[in-house]
Amino acid sequence: MTQLASITNNHLALKCEMCGHQSMIAVQHLIARLGRDISVHQVVPKLRCAGCGAKGKATFVITYVGASGTAMLGARQSGSGD
Ligand SMILES: [Zn+2]
Repeated sequence: MTQLASITNNHLALKCEMCGHQSMIAVQHLIARLGRDISVHQVVPKLRCAGCGAKGKATFVITYVGASGTAMLGARQSGSGD
């Protein structure tokens, strides 16, 4: 189980199984809406497809956007928030 709080610098790449619509959503955006103590597997069923309106039909991949996000994760210091 992956909680949003552990992947704050990532995005979710979503693909709707009903219509094939693809989208990217920032994890920080999801945290702002749903809180950081929820898991990715709890979030995805809440999402509605912007293409066909189907709810909870998306598959997802946790991804990075840009090298800066990866660098920030690598540079994270222990005791800085956990
Ligand atoms: Zn769709």
